[in-house]
Amino acid sequence: MARYTGPVCKLCRREGQKLFLKGERCFSPKCALEQRDYPPGEHGQAARFRRRRRPSDYHRQLREKQKVRRIYGVMERQFRRYFREAERKPGLAGENLLSLLERRLDNVVYRLGFADSRNQARQLVQHGHFTVNGRRTNVPSYAVRVEDRIAVREESRRKTYFKNRAEMLDGQSTPQWLSLDPGTLSARVVSLPRREDLEIPVNEQLVVEYYSR
Ligand code: SF4
Repeated sequence: MARYTGPVCKLCRREGQKLFLKGERCFSPKCALEQRDYPPGEHGQAARFRRRRRPSDYHRQLREKQKVRRIYGVMERQFRRYFREAERKPGLAGENLLSLLERRLDNVVYRLGFADSRNQARQLVQHGHFTVNGRRTNVPSYAVRVEDRIAVREESRRKTYFKNRAEMLDGQSTPQWLSLDPGTLSARVVSLPRREDLEIPVNEQLVVEYYSR
């Protein structure tokens, strides 16, 4: 599946908000948004001083949709498919959408602390370092289910990267819907993620409005 390969800090600057796409760097003064808090591009700096009109509803809906898409690293076509699936499920489409995105294997690997960013998690998954219910799984979009067991593959556990991770994971907090065992570098899906489990600063209703136009 295709993915965005351009400079990710530009995406944060475009949204005017930290999307935490680069791991540790996002928490340091090196964060591009700390240094250049204006949109990217030739006229980005000028835009900061221009008198801003109230953004239109469409503008707000579009920006929110782009923000969610960029946080989870999903391309437009796939994102639209997620939305259509969310609409078909019972309940609120916006909450269903976030739940579907949150259940992606690359996101789960990130949430468990096996990677510093979703991008890195995606790469680890693609390189076959993880198993789901004992089977090697290298599909980042795999949707985890309740009672799924996600684990670092036995061979991968011997790698320095995962040995260091094991030490870092001790005492780390994980979302309530996941249960992590740092000793075995494995985790269990306790329940499906609910809106209140997700700490992402987005207004999913605007995304629903965007696709309902
Ligand atoms: Fe965004 Fe992280 Fe880049 Fe800062 S360092 S602009 S939060 S991706």
